[in-house]
Amino acid sequence: MNRSTFIYTFAQGDASDKIRLGGKGANLCAMTQIGLNVPPGFVITTEACLSYLDGNQLPGGLMADVRAHIAELEHKTGKGFGNEANPLLISVRSGSAMSMPGMMDTILNLGLNAATLEGLIRVTGSPRFAYDAWRRFIQLFGKIAMGIDDETFDGAMVATKHKHGVTQDVDLTAAQLKELADRFLAIYREQTGHAFPADPYEQLRHSIEAVFRSWNGKRAVDYRRQFRITKEMANGTAVNVVMMVFGNMGEDSATGVGFTRNPATGENAIYGEYLTNAQGEDVVAGIRTPKPIAEMVQEMPDLYRQLVELRNRLEAHYKEVQDFEFTIEKGRLYCLQTRNGKMNAHAMVRTSVEMFMDGLISKERALMRIAPMLLEQLLVPTLNPTHKVEPLARGLPASPGAASGRIVFDADTAEQRCKVGEKVILVREETKPEDIHGFFAAQAILTSRGGKTSHAAVVARGMGKPCVSGCDAIRIDVRERRAEVGGTVLHEGDVITIDGTTGYVYPGQMSMVEPEFFAELATLLSWADEAARLKVLANADTPRDASRARQYGAMGIGLCRTERMFNEPQRLPIVQEMILADTTEARRDALERLLPIQREDFKGIFKAMTGLPVTVRLLDPPMHEFLPTASQLEFEISHLRHLQRVTRSVAELPDTLRLLDPELPRDYVESLAKLQESLVRYREAQRDDKLLTRREAMLKKVHLLSEVNPMLGHRGVRLGITFPEIYEMQIHAILEAAAECVKEGIDTHPEIMVPQVCDAEELRRVKTLVDAAKASIEARYGVALHFKFGSMVEVVRACMRAASLAEVAEFFSFGTNDLTQATFSFSREDAENKFLPQYVAAGILPNNPFEVLDVKGVGRLMKLAVGWGRDTRPDLVVGICGEHGGQPDSIRFCHYAGLDYVSCSAPRVPIARLAAAQAKLREKEYDEA
Ligand code: PEP
Ligand code: MG
Repeated sequence: MNRSTFIYTFAQGDASDKIRLGGKGANLCAMTQIGLNVPPGFVITTEACLSYLDGNQLPGGLMADVRAHIAELEHKTGKGFGNEANPLLISVRSGSAMSMPGMMDTILNLGLNAATLEGLIRVTGSPRFAYDAWRRFIQLFGKIAMGIDDETFDGAMVATKHKHGVTQDVDLTAAQLKELADRFLAIYREQTGHAFPADPYEQLRHSIEAVFRSWNGKRAVDYRRQFRITKEMANGTAVNVVMMVFGNMGEDSATGVGFTRNPATGENAIYGEYLTNAQGEDVVAGIRTPKPIAEMVQEMPDLYRQLVELRNRLEAHYKEVQDFEFTIEKGRLYCLQTRNGKMNAHAMVRTSVEMFMDGLISKERALMRIAPMLLEQLLVPTLNPTHKVEPLARGLPASPGAASGRIVFDADTAEQRCKVGEKVILVREETKPEDIHGFFAAQAILTSRGGKTSHAAVVARGMGKPCVSGCDAIRIDVRERRAEVGGTVLHEGDVITIDGTTGYVYPGQMSMVEPEFFAELATLLSWADEAARLKVLANADTPRDASRARQYGAMGIGLCRTERMFNEPQRLPIVQEMILADTTEARRDALERLLPIQREDFKGIFKAMTGLPVTVRLLDPPMHEFLPTASQLEFEISHLRHLQRVTRSVAELPDTLRLLDPELPRDYVESLAKLQESLVRYREAQRDDKLLTRREAMLKKVHLLSEVNPMLGHRGVRLGITFPEIYEMQIHAILEAAAECVKEGIDTHPEIMVPQVCDAEELRRVKTLVDAAKASIEARYGVALHFKFGSMVEVVRACMRAASLAEVAEFFSFGTNDLTQATFSFSREDAENKFLPQYVAAGILPNNPFEVLDVKGVGRLMKLAVGWGRDTRPDLVVGICGEHGGQPDSIRFCHYAGLDYVSCSAPRVPIARLAAAQAKLREKEYDEA
């Protein structure tokens, strides 16, 4: 490698090469090259850093080059490095390709020694300023280059202030600062065993090496791990050597930090703070309270005008909100650094819209600059970010948003307490479909078991309720109505707060920030819809969810899971009756009672989605999911039997007493007669017999329905084939609802979708039921019905048989939750609870494939299915309704694979709309590998 390429002046460096020059270095070059007033300097590249770290010594000849560049700097500034008459002081700053704030080191005022210190006093006429600079340099150099503990210096500072009776650093006089600097020099000698280096080049060499080393310091390594900064993103730190400018040279000097727009609100106004007669670290350290930049208008009007000019030029060049540092030295404004401003989601959205309106950025850029997942914070309540509450435990962030409420341990209690107006949080080991009414009632759900795709997580996300799952630190004892976490015992009724965005669980009530769908967000998303090719639909199961999805901009319902409706408390007994029925007639009888209920549900959804498609999926889960578990039933049966034994014994009590002593019963004649009488009535009513018979029948059915692997068992279309009356009822409910809507003039677009299909013949059988229902309903209602018939594609064989499936199906919807399980042969819950985290940590898999679509496996199957399906039916509509439909990387793949739509839970709809637009805008860059 040509060693001359290790150093670039700010006038020379290629501002687009952040990998070599680091972000700070590249920006210093850019600002210099567009004519902003940047103090002169040069960048030593990250390659030099890597070479140093590799060989444990600076690359050969590097210091000679540094000398040459310092000579150039001397020439430019008219000052001399180590020159007593007019000393050049420099800063040595780290800066890698990725911003890692505060993670690496910076040394200021380098070049000072006993001789240049005198020169600085003469040049500035301010001994106080010079000694202040000197003591700061000794401390920074001692700490960073020599590893001396900061506290040793801080202790000496405290002692000096104490000795002279002052509280603030700024109150120390020149003589006192000189005394402090001498003490610092003594500390340096004590700690290192040698004198403070007087030679500025020696100082510089040590400092460059120290900054290079800080790349591998613990702080920096931990930061990179935490934020997943890979070598491709940033490898090594550059060193920026910059002429010092001072904001502490009197009242015409200042230092500050600014944002070109307000990072909290996005408001288009310069925002920041400054301090007159101060150094940058005074602002950061909070020793003096900085003033808002707006006050500069009065205090330094001309400089304020220059600052606004600087701000405008920064934005015009970077076309992005900038976070910059400035110093004013004796009335001259310098920009010391700039970088893209980090903002909250609200500010990102507002600035996108306003920067486009101002003509600063294109619409494309307005859409591309926002990471879609950032929008999540705008749509759910979040914890007040200033809170200081210690969490009790942490589980998995399963459904975003925060909520407070009283703990309840079962769904019935949730419902009862909700009815009397209490806010509750449903806390369970895990949830089951029959807990659904508890979900409706609760503010949020907390489980101690299960992953991010557990029942609790999926249902909560669908409803837009916060959920923390798999919080295994919490031990729940439902019978005792208590839970324990660490040393804390929580009882039913105690208030907790959960944050489904982070997974934390807190004690007590906490304050929240409420979400708002504000005007700029609506504007930005309308631009997204214009740009995107993919449509965004929602997974919604109730009219209420459907309305909310529509507010978020859903262009229809891509998945309505009908089983969620079955689980409501008034309906479950009818569903159970249907399952327990021994004859088709008995089953039909129960189904007939379900039909009007389902029809009303569908009508509600069709109305909420007027003019838009609504895809209703026929029943999917195995039947046993609607029944209690075998162990629950066995527990109840044994209790009922025990009750019968007890009542029988009590009934026999008078005879038993008579056996003992014929006189005995006479003493209790009246009360025994009463007891016997009521027991006779009780037995005649046969309440317990009936209950027992029902429970025993249920248990028999549960055993009968029990499957070794229910997820691969008797479910989905297999149920529809074996019990056609169930699907028949649902088809009637859908089409009758549609017919009623048509009659009422509501523009309705129903789609009937069959789950778990593996062969076209299954579809044909269901289609026969559909055709028959259509004919009879059209005749009965006197209207023509228009709807689509399609298939879920969630079984591997369905992908392989896509060409023949498309002979019957007018649309495909990929159920990537099941398809991922099937492709990997991973059971979702077991994988997430047992081995997937290690697989991801060890780099065997790049992500959890249940969260981010596995493009290389599942994605390839999807592409095959899309191609084969469209060979048969060129206008085949294809979408996705698995969890991945709301995940930006997966949406990008769906665009690339030629899908027509993605469908996701309502709160993800805005995220998906933006991701769909970005997928289109970046389609040329897509790299399948
Ligand atoms: C799927 O499998 O992706 C799907 C949407 O169905 P469910 O999650 O209801 O099994
Ligand atoms: Mg499925």
